[in-house]
Amino acid sequence: MRIFAATLATETNTFAVVPTGRADFEVYGVYRGDASRKAADGFCGAQLGQLQRLAAADGHEVIESLAAFAQPAGPTLQNVYEEFRAQILEDLRAALPVDAVQLYLHGAMVAEGYDDCEGDLIRHVREIVGAGVHIGAELDLHCHFTERMRINADAIICFKEYPHTDILDRARELYRIAVDHVGSNIKPVTAVHDPRMVGLWPTTSEPMRSFVQRMKDLEGRDGVLSVSLGHGFPMGDVADSGARFWVITDGDAAKAEALARQLGQEFWDMREACSTPRGSVAQALDRANRSTRHPVVLADTGDNAGGGAMGDSTFVLRALLDAGIGNAALALYWDLGAVHLCRSAGVGATLDLRVGGKCGPLSGDPVDLRVVVRAIRENHTQAGLGSLHPLGTVVRVEAANGIDLLLCTIRSQVFVPELFTDLGIELTKKQIVVVKSNQHFHQGFAPIAAEIVYLPTPGSSSTDFANMPYRVRSLNYWPRVEDPFAVEAGRN
Ligand SMILES: [Zn+2]
Repeated sequence: MRIFAATLATETNTFAVVPTGRADFEVYGVYRGDASRKAADGFCGAQLGQLQRLAAADGHEVIESLAAFAQPAGPTLQNVYEEFRAQILEDLRAALPVDAVQLYLHGAMVAEGYDDCEGDLIRHVREIVGAGVHIGAELDLHCHFTERMRINADAIICFKEYPHTDILDRARELYRIAVDHVGSNIKPVTAVHDPRMVGLWPTTSEPMRSFVQRMKDLEGRDGVLSVSLGHGFPMGDVADSGARFWVITDGDAAKAEALARQLGQEFWDMREACSTPRGSVAQALDRANRSTRHPVVLADTGDNAGGGAMGDSTFVLRALLDAGIGNAALALYWDLGAVHLCRSAGVGATLDLRVGGKCGPLSGDPVDLRVVVRAIRENHTQAGLGSLHPLGTVVRVEAANGIDLLLCTIRSQVFVPELFTDLGIELTKKQIVVVKSNQHFHQGFAPIAAEIVYLPTPGSSSTDFANMPYRVRSLNYWPRVEDPFAVEAGRN
């Protein structure tokens, strides 16, 4: 069996001010045919590497094409997407005949002129391989599942876990379905259900924890091949943005449809229990400051680089200073100019530094601080989700009152406590630790946190879902509307 495979992934925040260009992909490496060997520990090559191992064990051949990943930001430039697509399709034509295609995509990639890059790519692949060749795709759970994807692919599976700890598990399932389909042991059919919901749903706490288990328990029995909940990506303003259930069965479309609808109803019934209470940032800081246990870990959810925000917003820093709260560590601020100044000054230098607030109104105002440069790390990296993430130069500066900040030159959310400890910050001695991230920090920080609090901060990854400034997506969704189904039925 000959399997053609490619990786193309970025998550597009259509509210972000900075577009995604070729250089943003090159930060993570752009590979063509060799990512499994050269980038096995990164987002570009992990799934391809596993595919090579699985296929080799089964006596199958893998033909690898493009592998490219970019940190989430604004829409990808049209020529960049079209160039990547052209490379994949050219490699595919050269590889024919193939028995199966495996695509590792994101599912929420938007380019100028393309609201559904993944659906577009899968459709082009289908045109080349024809109806008889298996096409499978793995998506991030923060995807926009579209009808174009469904009708052009044979099997699409998204991650179940948020944080995404199951990327390779799901890729393995995708491979098994491909092998079974090509071997004529199964005939996958997919049905989808739209619960009319927008949100972010961490799977680390109940009731989501048990719901993930319930989806897994349904698989592998009674002809159910795979169950996916695409959470949607709320910061992507496209027509298909929002949660979707889809179920793949062995040839039973009615069963797939009924199960997708049933799970959608169960998810709808859990909606209040799954939503995070929204207080004010000032209240949360005050409570964290008075906590008798520490460190209290606060997630700056509105400025999550992993969700396409710029990572330079100052709302939390400003609030800490205004409240006179000290003994805190905050990361990561993407601020090229500030890093440059600190680097020039050197470790031990004291200087007046203007931090953050550079990328636009959603970043807040810059904050002026007198700081001491405590540490500098060049070409620094951070582990997270089974991959290594480049950070460029990372600088630790200390301001008055025991406030430590980490600045970087390559945008990234915070994944692990080592980010702080590597630069000499003892988190166990800090009262407050602020991480610019929405959920991927959770796995690393839960063991050391006295408490974890999700701050309802403003920004281009704001989690104020009821008030998202959508212009393309329908506004008939929960939690903006209490009962979107009633609105559609004309009962409201
Ligand atoms: Zn995701």
